Amino acid sequence: MAARTLKIGLIPGDGIGKEVIPAGRRILEALPASLGLKFEFIDLKAGWETFEQTGNALPEETVSILKSECDGALFGAVSSPTKAVKGYSSPIVALRKKLDLYANVRPVKSVRGPGVKPIDMVIVRENTEDLYVKEEKTYDTPEGKVAEAIKRISQRASSRIATIAGEIALRRQKIREGGSPSIHKGPLVTVTHKSNVLSQTDGLFRSTAREALAAGRFTSVAVEEQIVDSMVYKLFRQPEAYDVIVAPNLYGDILSDGAAALVGSLGLVPSANVGEGFAIGEPCHGSAPDIQGQNIANPIATLRSAALMLEFLNEEEAAAKIYAAVDANLEEGKLLSPDLGGKAKTEEVVQDILRRL
Ligand code: ATP
Ligand code: MG
Repeated sequence: MAARTLKIGLIPGDGIGKEVIPAGRRILEALPASLGLKFEFIDLKAGWETFEQTGNALPEETVSILKSECDGALFGAVSSPTKAVKGYSSPIVALRKKLDLYANVRPVKSVRGPGVKPIDMVIVRENTEDLYVKEEKTYDTPEGKVAEAIKRISQRASSRIATIAGEIALRRQKIREGGSPSIHKGPLVTVTHKSNVLSQTDGLFRSTAREALAAGRFTSVAVEEQIVDSMVYKLFRQPEAYDVIVAPNLYGDILSDGAAALVGSLGLVPSANVGEGFAIGEPCHGSAPDIQGQNIANPIATLRSAALMLEFLNEEEAAAKIYAAVDANLEEGKLLSPDLGGKAKTEEVVQDILRRL
């Protein structure tokens, strides 16, 4: 079999991004040759330090190389100034726009063990519209100021996000059937909205998502819907009930941070920003300046993000190997970083996981 070569852009960014992204590179390089996968890496710049050096947090070169040469990328984290700084804006937000990465995908999984609630879900957040179109205005009235924001929901965006949620549900089922132990019996997508109040915007999201998930190839996928507030309640009481959750931008943002809190540390939770044929893996945590430079950052969110990126590049088998090596490290629980109550350094955690691979 001819080897497939994937070109991966590496954007460490700031803070612990610089410590965890090299670990992401190493796990990709350590995948067994029998998978027929090769990697080429291209180092790319973005972030606060880049802004200080060049006046641009996302150099044009980074965008053009990602677009013209790369199959995917790993993005670390960027520090944001606490006050608005002229000319600075978040490079990951800009990248999502420029590359039309319309889905933010965030798997949340608990470590198997006695007394631990089993959690294994993926939150699929629409990434391009809703209140995040940032069309706001403030005006004066005789009673004082009033501020307004546009919440835009389109059929196109709702349909494609529901479709990718359905595909993720099918893929997860396939991986389970391949032998991974699972708490779920079959693929399930939960459509989240607030259409009892917002009958037009969320109503359109709901009906469009339902329609997209009624497509023939999703006949094996169970579809349910839930109002977002009752969803939060159930998410915390009974997280094991969820498989794939699809939500408009704002609810997805809130639900995915809430869900991340269920599994102990931000250092465990990966994400991917996904568009047509392109994916950027990105750990959910930020640049964590409080632990930077100490070699104690948990690399697992990044390792899982590398695997998630591979899933969207249709390399499920390679992804499954990384997930299994990470899970084995966590289940054994001997070499854990301090955020998980352990004493291991970043490097020791990486070594242990590479050995298991
Ligand atoms: P930023 O502004 O870049 O988001 P932050 O100060 O909000 O930075 P986060 O990175 O969001 O910091 O992290 C929040 C907390 O979680 C911090 O205390 C941080 O040390 C911890 N944390 C985040 N990521 C990791 C990790 N990979 N390993 C260990 N601890 C982490
Ligand atoms: Mg933060």
